[in-house]
Amino acid sequence: MDIDKIKIKWKEGAINQNTYVVEQKDSCILIDAGVSVDEIRKITNKPILAVMLTHSHFDHIDYIEDYDKLKIPIYASLYTKKSMLDSNLNVSFMIKPRPYRVSKINELNDNETIKIGEVILKCLYTPGHSRDSVCYLVGDKLFSGDTLFSDSIGRTDFIDSDKNEMIKSLSRLGTIDYKELYPGHGRVSSKAEQNQNIQHWLSILK
Ligand SMILES: [Zn+2]
Repeated sequence: MDIDKIKIKWKEGAINQNTYVVEQKDSCILIDAGVSVDEIRKITNKPILAVMLTHSHFDHIDYIEDYDKLKIPIYASLYTKKSMLDSNLNVSFMIKPRPYRVSKINELNDNETIKIGEVILKCLYTPGHSRDSVCYLVGDKLFSGDTLFSDSIGRTDFIDSDKNEMIKSLSRLGTIDYKELYPGHGRVSSKAEQNQNIQHWLSILK
């Protein structure tokens, strides 16, 4: 994989959730599904090879059924399918409780690496915000979902949140080699900035 040939673009959804477009030469991959296909088409017309979910919260999967109908493969953790169907776990109870149903989820294990088109993605399990939270490492870019934001971390007060797991996950992210952070909400930042952020939040959580 030639990381210089990959371009990252993104669209913000209704509650500032980021859906990332990882663009290759002739195709692209989405990280999360918080915006519609039409919104993605405003930034690229390249075929979408896959949707990689960082976790099952409604704001990140809101349009997943539409992508599924287009027969775009969906990838996520082993725990995501169950959470998507449960409005307490997908936290849609906060707005309009509903299950999200898709034909199939390709389940990734912790540390599993997958090549989609020219892009190699490594799935890192980072539970804490939700049980099914994962990050994706693509070359020197880390897509951190709601585990780690540029100026904060994800909430740990949901039904399947776990503060102790969050501590482990943040500690783990501190050891991962990457340059750029692409979080599930808010601005993009660098690993250098995150070293401080992680230490700050670990001291609060512990
Ligand atoms: Zn979330």
